[in-house]
Amino acid sequence: MELKVLDHGYVRAIEDWGYGDAKIAEAGIIEAARQSTQGAFRGWDKDMKLLAFMYEHRHESPFEFAGLIIEVQAPIFIFREWHRHRTQSYNEMSARYTELPDLFYIPSIERLMAGKQSSKNKQGSEEGFTEAQAAKLQEDMTAACGYARLAYEWYLKEGMSRELARLVIPVNQYSRMRASANLRNWLAFLSLRLDPSAQYEIRQYAEAVSTIVESLFPRTHSLFTGDKKND
Ligand SMILES: Cc1cc2nc3c(=O)[nH]c(=O)nc-3n(C[C@H](O)[C@H](O)[C@H](O)COP(=O)(O)OP(=O)(O)OC[C@H]3O[C@@H](n4cnc5c(N)ncnc54)[C@H](O)[C@@H]3O)c2cc1C
Repeated sequence: MELKVLDHGYVRAIEDWGYGDAKIAEAGIIEAARQSTQGAFRGWDKDMKLLAFMYEHRHESPFEFAGLIIEVQAPIFIFREWHRHRTQSYNEMSARYTELPDLFYIPSIERLMAGKQSSKNKQGSEEGFTEAQAAKLQEDMTAACGYARLAYEWYLKEGMSRELARLVIPVNQYSRMRASANLRNWLAFLSLRLDPSAQYEIRQYAEAVSTIVESLFPRTHSLFTGDKKND
């Protein structure tokens, strides 16, 4: 499954695990829990209750026996936030080895109209720009990125190393990485990054991750969303 995010980004599912001996999605979580009694997976008609019990009572380690690897294309400022989640493993494109793609995140007019510095939340944005002002800001941002790109390409053409030429690149430059985590830690990531207090752009990525988690781990995801509704 691959989901488009923002103007040039995506989240793509690469690999998932947690099938256990039963070879059924999420059964590995139950099998891990049953290690205490040396029991096996008994089928979802019986074991959904156990899954819900563990989730509700925060018996979380069995949820570490399922997991997911994704590939993400996102602006560098998103990766700055994302990489704070230390319980995921990462490998990212290197701008020392590879020329960066000519891809910059330019916010939509709607996002820019809601992009005034918030008067209430020091970390946030609020409505306030007219459509005409937003269009002007968008045009200006595109030109600034174009100028940065021109400088980058000029330095490379002159023979400057990639590791130095990248210094003029802004943080809305797209990069690419793979991220791997167990299900427990994906849910922790989603809890923080789906929250309205998280920046709009990383929330769009969290929504895509949530859709993938829902498709692969529907039972655990429904417990997670049920839990969120009860917050
Ligand atoms: C809305 C929002 C605003 C933010 N603003 C800022 C900001 O202004 N400045 C800033 O620097 N960061 C900011 N952050 C990042 C935030 O502080 C966390 O670094 C980030 O959300 C990762 O969370 P985490 O540490 O729980 O995740 P992970 O690193 O994945 O850790 C998961 C859990 O493992 C445990 N753990 C991991 N490492 C340790 C450790 N070394 N010691 C003890 N327990 C550990 C903790 O229980 C932790 O919750 C912000 C995050 C959000 C969501």
